[in-house]
Amino acid sequence: MRFRTLIALCCLSASFHACIAEAEWFEATESIMGTRVHAEVWHEQAEVAERVLDDVMAEMRRIDATYSPFIETSELSKLNREAPEGWVQTTREMLDLLARSARVSRLTGGAFDITYASVGRYYDFREGQRPDDATLIEGLAAINYEYVEIDTLAQRVRFTHPLVYIDLGGIAKGYAVDRCIALIEARGIDQAAVAAGGDSRIIGDRRGEPWTVGIQDPRNDDVMAALLPLVDTAVSTSGDYERFFVEDGVRYHHIIDPRTGDSARDSWSVTILGKEATFTDALSTSVFVLGPEKGLELINSLPGVDAIIIDASGKLLYSADLAEAAGQQPTAVAPQRGLH
Ligand code: ADP
Ligand code: MG
Repeated sequence: MRFRTLIALCCLSASFHACIAEAEWFEATESIMGTRVHAEVWHEQAEVAERVLDDVMAEMRRIDATYSPFIETSELSKLNREAPEGWVQTTREMLDLLARSARVSRLTGGAFDITYASVGRYYDFREGQRPDDATLIEGLAAINYEYVEIDTLAQRVRFTHPLVYIDLGGIAKGYAVDRCIALIEARGIDQAAVAAGGDSRIIGDRRGEPWTVGIQDPRNDDVMAALLPLVDTAVSTSGDYERFFVEDGVRYHHIIDPRTGDSARDSWSVTILGKEATFTDALSTSVFVLGPEKGLELINSLPGVDAIIIDASGKLLYSADLAEAAGQQPTAVAPQRGLH
């Protein structure tokens, strides 16, 4: 599906009575990576804008085809099949993503861990299925990011535990967004936004009318808990309302605590603001796992990164810089409306 919005077309010059071509907004929306992908760019030439939007969608599809654990022919599926057996040659890009994931794992004390999927693969949120106790215990032994061994020089990877299974779902969408922004910037475009589900990045200030990113009320689909006007920022939200089922009053959702193999339940949603979407994506998942207290401590220690958390009682919490900017205490802030 593709549509264009005309924001400014042309104007009549009073003195020359000529129609001067002006820049306009072009946008495209598609369903890729199991989510809504949206891009908009500001440009004078329709052909250039259309081409860059086509390239953005093609890049999103390439990343999906390469890193999806659900596509048998993906590079990721190949690793999951072969790397428990021994070294597997892979691409520079894969090595780079694995190395970046490992860095976030170290930074977050293992809250972010792509081997979570050694257990995570046994959840099916659509079917309401979760691993039984024996599967959980067996899989837990294989969760440890250090089991993913990277040989950068020889460009190969192996898993050093036989049951390791990896999933890049906590970082790949942010990475895809960054790649697409790089494509756009390479064309000299300086006003654009790209979003893949809950991961977005904005360049420019939307010509003085900043993009607004909404944080959804985790317990009410139709309501926004907060609206953020943003300029030159990456923003990622992780929520327990995206993919979940409830069994015996317990919510099972897609963000897994690597220590337990169970869903993390100290927050309802975590939004991270920063420079690059690869990092904000991985951090939103990480802070969700860490919980509000440790999560805010981590975010407050990172320059240029901010967080907005809705905790498990529905309270909005802000990282120190945001709280200060809003003239609030860097602690709990009552929500505008009652979350439940
Ligand atoms: P989404 O935009 O898909 O909701 P999130 O940024 O909220 O993504 O991350 C959730 C995804 O991250 C899960 O679907 C899963 O693929 C992956 N994931 C879940 N738990 C972890 C974890 N502890 N470490 C790394 N990745 C995880
Ligand atoms: Mg994330």
